[in-house]
Amino acid sequence: MNAPSEAFLHDKLQALQAQADEFIAVRRDIHKHPEMGYKEYRTSDLVAEQLEKWGYAVTRGLGGTGVVGQLKRGTGGKALGLRADMDALPIDEATGLPYASCNTGIMHACGHDGHTAMLLAAAKHIAQKATFSGTVNLIFQPAEEGLGGAKKMMEDGLFKQFPCDAIFGMHNMPGHPQGHLVMRDGAAMASSDNVTITVEGTGGHGAVPHRSADPVVAASAIVMGLQSIVARNVDPQEMAVITVGAFNAGVANNVIPQSATLRLSVRALNREVRELLEKRITDLAHAQAQSYGVRAHIDYKRGYPVLVNHMAETDFVQQVAEELVGKDRVVRNPRALTGSEDFAFMLEEVPGCYLLIGNGDGSGDGHGACMVHNPGYDFNDDNVAVGSAFWSLLVERFLPA
Ligand SMILES: [Zn+2]
Ligand SMILES: [Zn+2]
Repeated sequence: MNAPSEAFLHDKLQALQAQADEFIAVRRDIHKHPEMGYKEYRTSDLVAEQLEKWGYAVTRGLGGTGVVGQLKRGTGGKALGLRADMDALPIDEATGLPYASCNTGIMHACGHDGHTAMLLAAAKHIAQKATFSGTVNLIFQPAEEGLGGAKKMMEDGLFKQFPCDAIFGMHNMPGHPQGHLVMRDGAAMASSDNVTITVEGTGGHGAVPHRSADPVVAASAIVMGLQSIVARNVDPQEMAVITVGAFNAGVANNVIPQSATLRLSVRALNREVRELLEKRITDLAHAQAQSYGVRAHIDYKRGYPVLVNHMAETDFVQQVAEELVGKDRVVRNPRALTGSEDFAFMLEEVPGCYLLIGNGDGSGDGHGACMVHNPGYDFNDDNVAVGSAFWSLLVERFLPA
């Protein structure tokens, strides 16, 4: 924290600061041993061992390497879920830190080491010092980076085995001052879909185009037509992205190829817009292909949905945040992010809120401002105390004794 006045140092923050060193060491240990999605064997062992030590009922195997720690206390009938992600990225670390990755080509460049450590630090405090009545489910998920570990845990019965009245998740964010808490109601992060359009024509000699059906011209018309969807079909007040990131066809100047392939990244911040984009892209590609006498095959792969925070839970997160760090370190409703996040799947099934914790804005020693997924990124260890204090206070306020 950038020197809050004593009056603002919430007792929860003091308590979690007092045990922060233990979990900064855990964070650095996880950082040094990063593991890719669904291969978080060492990390999930470490998480499970610690949770067991503090008296949690530990369930393993959901989503492969996922871990759930459950703690019930008192007679309260409510349950909540707190979620952290554990996976790393295929990046060569360039920080030069003493605890830099010892697994070549793999790096905790998104701070999931920190998310895991913050939730573990909270787990210890919740078990040993917190006052609450009800059920706490701590969800450590695998494979957030593109592989949908959240969905996999749900398919394996996460919310059937561990029903939750609300769920909460937290991601660090460079560019916001360290320890500031940021939340947005409604759509907060974009959906992300991957589409492959294969245009099947009839190949032939470049000198006799009338004896072939040219997939290059047809695919070019599709690329141009796609631009009209965002411009002419989507409400101008809504956000939508259709990027044709790859166009592959042909090998020689005098050969009309048999096929052409387009690869698209499609994003939206509204579920209806997402549906509209899928329908229009599909219809337009088929119709455009037909008009050129070729055929379009469309492989529409839905990735992560729009992340939509629920209003009541976002209000609640704001209240807890303001109580913990003070109003001037809380930001409500910044602009939505165009990145995507698989916690969105969980929010489709259970009400909740995904918030951000500032990793640093480059002020002071400049620590923490380097963007996630950059080889120079590092999680800001000062957030171990703030993040775990936030989780602990949220449990006490959500499940009052
Ligand atoms: Zn990431
Ligand atoms: Zn991340």
